[in-house]
Amino acid sequence: PETITIQELANRMAERAVDVVRILMKQGHMAKSTDLIDADTAQLIAEELGHTVRRVSESDVEEGLFDSADVEGAQSTRPPVVTIMGHVDHGKTSLLDAIRSANVVSGEAGGITQHIGAYQVTAPTGGKVTFIDTPGHAAFSAMRARGARVTDIVVLVVAADDGVMPQTIEAIQHAKAAKVPMIVAINKIDKPDSKPERVRSELLQYEVQVESMGGEVQDVEVSAKNKTNLDGLLESIALQSEILELKANPDRPAEGTVIEAKLDKGRGSVATVLVQRGTLRTGDIIVAGTEFGRVRLLVSDKGENVAEAGPSTPVEVLGFSGTPEAGDRIAVVESEARAREITSYRAHQKREKAVARATGMRGSLEQMMS
Ligand code: GDP
Ligand code: MG
Repeated sequence: PETITIQELANRMAERAVDVVRILMKQGHMAKSTDLIDADTAQLIAEELGHTVRRVSESDVEEGLFDSADVEGAQSTRPPVVTIMGHVDHGKTSLLDAIRSANVVSGEAGGITQHIGAYQVTAPTGGKVTFIDTPGHAAFSAMRARGARVTDIVVLVVAADDGVMPQTIEAIQHAKAAKVPMIVAINKIDKPDSKPERVRSELLQYEVQVESMGGEVQDVEVSAKNKTNLDGLLESIALQSEILELKANPDRPAEGTVIEAKLDKGRGSVATVLVQRGTLRTGDIIVAGTEFGRVRLLVSDKGENVAEAGPSTPVEVLGFSGTPEAGDRIAVVESEARAREITSYRAHQKREKAVARATGMRGSLEQMMS
């Protein structure tokens, strides 16, 4: 049966739970706020409190929220979003840091100190490239598991002195499963015992055929330590992104994905969001997972307050009432009422699922909204 807790019903109506309990008491039922009541009872209570009741289904709530086809409106080229993967100690963090610091203009506000989980640099070709600064397979898998698709290109880092290792193979499998093109960065070529040729031939075993081996996967020799050929890597990324013809419509309400989120003592809930379509602006009403809010402040990866963020731009978002989770998709909605409806519906679904899992039940339940 469809059920709802008294507290949740009260929340949806923006009423106090005690007032709901009082109505039930008048009808001769003793109840507490955590008790479940059925949908018919909930409807009666809502009407008693002067609310209009509308029972909705998932499609009512979620419909039109994500328009991944993005057909309407003019399409503009957008920067590629890149994730760096590879075996531990092969230089993922070093490479991310090297690319970032090489791109920081001296005197730039925030400089290299600002770490928001993603950053954007300008390639020698003039185009921009967005790096997800949370390397590791865990982040990639977590996002994928939540249905978020953020990465356009995977840079596979392989240390030239170590070769293909277990997590290299894992990364290849991730990229292939997600159908994301790879670029191989053969790192640590400054080391005397580096053997880039061996890396190329080892990769063949895992069906990664680089260009010099007659394949189509680009490979670039780099040294994160000496900042050697970082421009070469950025050029390869730019070339790959041209092939992918990455486009998005900036002139529409924003959609994106939460890359990281935390509760900051001074600033409240802070979420790093990758905007994927449309443009996010201060004042926008946003939903992500079971949280919503109004964008109070947008902070760029350079630590500057910005008024808006377009496709492929990472930005810190302040204004969420709670803290969303990494991998949550974010959308702009037209009103706070709609935001409440969506997030309370999802919160309810989440609890239902948890209960269903706990009791070994399956199935979806029609929801009751007020
Ligand atoms: P991660 O685990 O893949 O993030 O690897 P790190 O970036 O933490 O690097 C692991 C170790 O390799 C560190 O001691 C780095 O200083 C070193 N390292 C990274 N890149 C290079 C490189 O290009 N050359 C040399 N010689 N050492 C490197
Ligand atoms: Mg690391």
